[in-house]
Amino acid sequence: MSDFHPNPDALRPESRIVHPPLAESVGSRPMGIPLHQSHLFAFDTSDELVRAFAGPGEAFFYNRFGNPTVRSLETAVADLERGAAAVATASGMGAINTVLLALLRSGDHVVAQRSLYGGTFAMLADLARRWGVEVTHVAGDDPGEVEAALRPNTRLLHLETVSNPTTRVTDLPGLIGVAKRAGVVSVVDNTFATPLLCRPIEHGADVVIHSATKYLGGHSDVLAGIAVFADAELHRKVWQFATELGASADPFAAWLTLRGLQTLALRVRRHCDTALDLATRLAAHPAVSAVHYPGLPTHPDHDLARGLLPAGHGGVLAFDLSGGREAARTFTESVRLASLAPSLGGVHTLVLHPASTSHRQLSDDELAAAGIGAGTVRVSVGIEHPEDLWADVEQALAKL
Ligand code: PLP
Repeated sequence: MSDFHPNPDALRPESRIVHPPLAESVGSRPMGIPLHQSHLFAFDTSDELVRAFAGPGEAFFYNRFGNPTVRSLETAVADLERGAAAVATASGMGAINTVLLALLRSGDHVVAQRSLYGGTFAMLADLARRWGVEVTHVAGDDPGEVEAALRPNTRLLHLETVSNPTTRVTDLPGLIGVAKRAGVVSVVDNTFATPLLCRPIEHGADVVIHSATKYLGGHSDVLAGIAVFADAELHRKVWQFATELGASADPFAAWLTLRGLQTLALRVRRHCDTALDLATRLAAHPAVSAVHYPGLPTHPDHDLARGLLPAGHGGVLAFDLSGGREAARTFTESVRLASLAPSLGGVHTLVLHPASTSHRQLSDDELAAAGIGAGTVRVSVGIEHPEDLWADVEQALAKL
């Protein structure tokens, strides 16, 4: 049915103005991504509307349950991650919380990596404190430690492909293998790696999460998240809960993410190449005592990364300045092409001092255990020309 009344001349201006004729492309198709910025969809018959309520594969009727632009994003990322289906959300934390709350209940036990994104770590602590979910933290490199942590009530293993900020690479096949044998659902936050560098479902993961705010969107203009499911049944369970929680992605956010996604392969290639170049140059600089980047042969997970991230090691690196906190402050305030800002994964290079910002809640012992020193600086490498970037980094290092 046309959106316009069959006899517009019979309507008064007040009615005509809220039922405008909407142009559709006839005989051609748009090359840009259509944006369905409508939270509501109308039906010709009540039977069709009733059928729409049956599940995620039916007609769209209300955005909390689905929207064509949001579904396009879900299909695209599920395809990239080799999953069955996805649920797009308003943020990365929205995706993480939707999955945790959909799959856990009081009395359940979770095994989670120690070096998680701060928001995830805080959410797990909150689940333990207020909702009776037990949490055991483990390192990311020892399947035996996961095995030993399992209990009869363990329901979920939560991992991140690459840790923040020291870029330790998680032994996904080893850790997920332990969970699989015990019938425990494994969830992997793959934000740092992107589906172009690592596809956790190929290593046995049940759920893959992205903060689409980062590489998938890629341009620092959108907040969004997505959870991809290996299995359609698990997807349906979480989708059902997501409709109750109300964490759905807005169509415009999905549209921006889809638009960013079209250049993901080019951007990731560039991020990886420039990050390796920068890491190599930093490692040779006298003011730098250590560089953390899995692409360097000196990185403790270099061999693991060669198998898990064969196409490149990502765009995030960290380095330690011998001058400690003061040197880190001077450096982060002296860069001119790079910007002092949190977040990562966008086209602009960003620098950050984790000990005083993203990881400030950690005690000195916890910081030391995570390999984060007073002089550690994180860099999210953008897509600027590598020579311009090095010139900027070099002039900021010269201020120390
Ligand atoms: N997961 C990782 C690895 C992150 O780095 C972040 C944010 O920095 C998140 C999840 C949360 O994503 P969002 O900020 O989109 O909620």
